[in-house]
This record gives sequence, C-alpha cells and structure tokens, in this order.
Amino acid sequence: MTPTDSEVDVLIVGAGPAGLMLATWLSQLQISTRIVDKRSTKIMAGQADGFQCRTLEILDSFGIDRVWKESNHMLEVCFWNPDENGVIRRTARAPDTPKGLSRFTESVLHQGRMERFFLDHLKETGDRIRVERPVVPSLLQVDESEIKNPSAYPVTLKLQHLTDEQATPNQGNNVPNGLFRSNLTADDTDDLIRKSSGKEGTEETIRAKYVVGCDGAHSWTRKQLGFKMEGEHTEIIWGVLDVVPITDFPDIRVRCLIHSASAGSLMVIPREKRVVRLYIQLKEVGFGGGAVDRSKVTPEQILKAAQKIIAPYKLEYEQCDWFTAYQIAQRVSDGFEKFDRIFLAGDAVHTHSPKAGQGQNVSIQDAYNLGWKIGMVARGQASPEILKTYTTERQQIAKDLIAFDQKFSKLFSGRPAKDVSDETGISLEEFRNVFHQGAVFAAGLSVDYGPNILVVKEDEGKEGTVRCRPDLADKLKIGMRLPSHKILNQSDALAIELQRLLPSDGRFRLVVFAGDISKPEIYSRYEKLGDYLASKDSLISSYTPQNSPRDSVIEVLTVHSAKRTDIELQSLPEAFRPLDKSKGWDYWKVYADDESYHEGHGKVYENFGIDRDEGCIVVVRPDGYVAATVSVDDTQSLETYFGRFMIRL
Ligand code: FAD
Repeated sequence: MTPTDSEVDVLIVGAGPAGLMLATWLSQLQISTRIVDKRSTKIMAGQADGFQCRTLEILDSFGIDRVWKESNHMLEVCFWNPDENGVIRRTARAPDTPKGLSRFTESVLHQGRMERFFLDHLKETGDRIRVERPVVPSLLQVDESEIKNPSAYPVTLKLQHLTDEQATPNQGNNVPNGLFRSNLTADDTDDLIRKSSGKEGTEETIRAKYVVGCDGAHSWTRKQLGFKMEGEHTEIIWGVLDVVPITDFPDIRVRCLIHSASAGSLMVIPREKRVVRLYIQLKEVGFGGGAVDRSKVTPEQILKAAQKIIAPYKLEYEQCDWFTAYQIAQRVSDGFEKFDRIFLAGDAVHTHSPKAGQGQNVSIQDAYNLGWKIGMVARGQASPEILKTYTTERQQIAKDLIAFDQKFSKLFSGRPAKDVSDETGISLEEFRNVFHQGAVFAAGLSVDYGPNILVVKEDEGKEGTVRCRPDLADKLKIGMRLPSHKILNQSDALAIELQRLLPSDGRFRLVVFAGDISKPEIYSRYEKLGDYLASKDSLISSYTPQNSPRDSVIEVLTVHSAKRTDIELQSLPEAFRPLDKSKGWDYWKVYADDESYHEGHGKVYENFGIDRDEGCIVVVRPDGYVAATVSVDDTQSLETYFGRFMIRL
C-alpha cells in the first residue's frame, strides 16, 4: 500500500436511487463506506417519479416518511378509448392501487426529492457517509488470491477527482427559460453551490472489501466485469413532458391511459405541485417523415403529438419543468456479481420503459436486498455464502420485470381494436386485464424469493433440518414480505401496524404468534420457549456479542391471541420483555391480536391463516421478508436455520 492508498469496507460507484439506498443501509449498520458520483450535484428535475407500495414500505422502515408526505397520491386510474366515431371517451375507472395490498398507495414525486431525502438521512444517521463528487473510477482490479479471505481488501480502484471542466452534469433539461430550477426547494439550493473537496484533478487508489456498481444504464463497473446487457431495443419513441397543464380534459388530476383512434397513446400522471407528467407515444417516423433523432425532439413537438391524442380536448402549458424523449430498450445484464466481491444494482443490470414506474423502485429494492447482506458479512456476523442469494433473488426479479414491461409496453404502444373482429388491435378488455394483473407486480408486492440458505419454504423432512411448517400460517407466503395488519401493544393498548415493528436496522426477528396464552397449556409452551431463549445455550446467546443488548442481533416479538386485558405483561417471561438497566423494561415487544379502542381489529391471525391456539413462530429477515415458519416449540429448527449462515461468537 502506498501512502496515498486507503482502505474501505464498501465502495459504491454511483449515487442515484440504488447507490443512495445502499449507502443508507450501510450507514444504518455503521459499515465503513465511500460513495462516489461523476455528477457534481444530485438530480434536480425529471427522470423517475413513481413510488410503488413496497418502496414506500421500505422507506418507512428507515423512518423516511417525506416521500409519502410530499408526493401526490394517485388513487384512481381512468381508461379513455375511442368510441365508434373515433372520439376518445372515458370507458372505465378503477382504483390505481388494488385495495388491501399495502398501507401505502402508488405515489408520485420527482427523483431529485428522493435523492434529497436519502442525503438528509445519511446526514442524520451520523454523517459518516457523504457522496464524493465529481469522482469517477478509472481502474478496477481484483486480487483473486485474496477473495476468500474475509479480512482482505481484494478489490483495487483508482478514483479520479474531476475538476469543474471535466464534470459537466447533464440534468437532461434543455428548457431554455430557467424553469429547470422550478423544482428546487430550499433544501436543494445548497447543492448548486459547488464546494471544493480540495482533491480536484487528483487521482487516488483505494482498496475495498466490496465494490457495488450502482452507476446506471451505461455502467462503467459492469463493463469492467465484462457483463453484457441482453434483450431487445425497439424503434418506438416516447416523449415525456413535465408541465403545469392548462386543459379542459376532465381527468387531468387522475392517472389516465388514453388510446386515441389513430394518433397514438398518452399516459397522464398527476404530480406534486400542480405538475402533470405526460408520456406520449411519438410515431416511429419523424415529424418530417424520416426517422426520429431523439436529441432533436423538442417540447413543442411532444406537445403537438399530445394535443392530437387528447383532441377534442385542448391542452396547452406555460410552465415546463422538464422533458425528454426515449426509446424503449428492455435488457437484463448476464451477470450481477463477480467473486461475491463486486456487485451491480439498479439500472446497471436492468433497463426497460419507464411507463410502469418501475426503474427507480426496482433499483432501490435491489440495493435494499444487498445492503444488509454485505453489512452482516462485513461485520463478521454471517458467512459470505449469503451474498450469493443477491444474484439468485434479484436476477429473477429483473427477468420478471422485463417480461412485465414487454407486455405493458406492447399494450400501450399498440393500436386499439376497432371492434371485436379486429384481431390485431388491442381490446379494452385485454388492456384492462393486463393492467390489473400487473398492478400487484408493479406495486413491488409479488416478489417471492425462492428457497435458498435464507429462505426455507417447506419441511426439509429429516431430523436436524428445518421442520418448516407453512401450514401453521397458510395465508402467509414464505419468501414474500411480511404484510402489515394492526395489532395492540400489550402495555398501553396502542394500535400499531405490524410492519412498524420491523425497522431496517439489520436485525433478524422471531415473531412469536404465541396463541391464546390465557390458556394454561398454551402459556406453558410459551414459558418454555422463554426459558430456552433466556438460556446460555440459546441461539440468542450464541450470536449476540457479550455486552450487547440481547435483542441486538435477533429480536423476539410476541403477538398473542388472548384478550389483551386478560394478560399482565409483568407476568410474562422476561425473555419476551427484557430489562435494560439504563432504559428500564421493554414495553414494545408484546402485542395482542385484539380489538382496539379506536381503530378496529387488525385480525392478524385470521389474515395470516394462523390458528388462534396453535400459533407459530415466523422468522423474518432484516429486509422484512418471511424466511421460515416453525412451530412454537421447535427451537431445534431455529438453531438449524441460523446455524447455516450465522457465525457463532
Ligand atoms: P441512476 O439513477 O442512473 O444513477 C446512476 C448514478 O451513477 C448517477 O448519479 C450517475 O451520475 C452515476 N454514474 C454513472 N456512471 C458513473 C461513473 N462512471 N462514475 C461515477 N458515477 C457514475 N423509474 C421509476 O421507478 N419510476 C418512474 O416513474 C420512472 N420514470 C422515468 C422517466 C424517465 C423519463 C426516465 C429517463 C427514467 C425513469 N425511471 C423511472 C427510471 C429511473 O430513473 C431509473 O431506473 C433509476 O434512476 C435507476 O436508478 P440507479 O440508481 O440504478 O441509476
């Protein structure tokens, strides 16, 4: 190591949504991390704007609630189609997010705000990780002889700190009248004031345990690894306008999918601050009859195309925040990692059309899947084996995403059927069916991770294996995220969403659905479990560092089915309501599935298909996905499950 070299556990290339999500996780887990970006500032306008339910749940689990507060919540979707005279008419309305999917609904806010919230969160959680800008890597090397050594830093990167001239941030915005700043809020202004890092024009060498390329669709990191993007590139061009519309179109403040008879399709996305995003299909031939050169497309041309589709309604604007034109490419990288040391996430491994509002969401969710795994391995808590699940879990999602996008884009770009005998056109029925089937996928809630070292889906059948019992919670899907229902705090009767008990703090959780513990035989089983958890041979003792709180690695939560008022918290075993002498008793670990005073009954046992007497234990991963379900007395299976990847102290 030369005097200018430095070491870091994780180096992240790219500070878009994926890179910032990863940095947020690693900040939370206090892992030594650096993050670099070639832009001299964050995004200020445009690009992604859709936030799906799962992303909102994830953000909430970090305490980031500003997206939900600032965004426009899209509650309704309307379908407009040509009538027999070719005039567009509203043909159907539906809820934009199917009922009961999540406590959140699809919401819209521009990507720059999301980046702002991540940056603020990094500051609030210790200010240990700051995005270093404008910086690009210029060399990546791996010492293969060291990749199996957990304490080694086998990946070497050269970083170039750019000067102002070298870093020319492209905000993708050519609106000439300065409206580019219109999305700026007070807390963004500081980003435009370029501060010197004192390193401009210099190069440094850095050695890392892990490198993660979150550097977007043209990923430099992916190229260094020699991976290829596989898939299709179509000729269909779409224009995007972020405008404050002046129109007599009645549904401009709800999401609309408009198919005109012959002028193409338009999607209306009502946004925050009176803005509306319009996605407009431009013709495959240019406005003058030749092929479209994307870089020459102007907002006026896009508006003209939109006016034709939306006619006879009028559409104008005075204020345009942002516009772009893009071609649809649906591609997945043929590799997501190398040596379990270098990973790729987000647009670096999948690109597709933006209309279903997936890119930012899936990118955030990739990084969310990876962050805690790298964190646990870097902390020496878990075996590097768990890192392999990143690729197996997320590559499948990327493939599903492309398949979904291909279906969605074809439908959207296709011509509406004239009548039932028109077989090449797309019928309204077909469109609505695909739209609704896609809604659960689009919400990010159909993610179902397959069996692996972290997910046990069925009884492995032999002594000494995990006797997984999906039948004990037969409406709960192992491999999917734990859904939320209201439960009551035993100590103060507060109704709270179950997911609020699962903050993203790197801990596994045993959610003990203890059953009706007012019955002696059921209480006795629960008490026995408490004795085990408190013992020095329990899995809690095995994996929790001495001098750390007993819930710092695996947290035990109870949700019983007795009447809340029939149970006294103080009479329950201490393992379920631990005492920390400096903080007192923990009153936030035992809950009842019971009627609340003001917010009804969450019926979590019923919703999860858990018998109110038999109960079960649900093992929940640090990212909120269900890892296994075992019976309340099966501590052996719990030991086997954790023993496969956790490192004993
Ligand atoms: P990016 O956001 O591309 O971030 C990559 C970062 O890496 C950038 O900051 C870049 O400066 C940096 N970088 C790149 N190369 C280097 C390098 N060599 N060295 C250092 N830094 C580097 N998604 C949705 O979910 N919903 C939507 O509604 C939506 N709408 C969209 C509309 C449009 C018009 C467009 C263009 C995209 C839209 N997307 C949408 C997609 C979304 O913007 C992306 O999927 C998302 O930003 C991907 O996040 P990422 O972090 O993987 O990559």
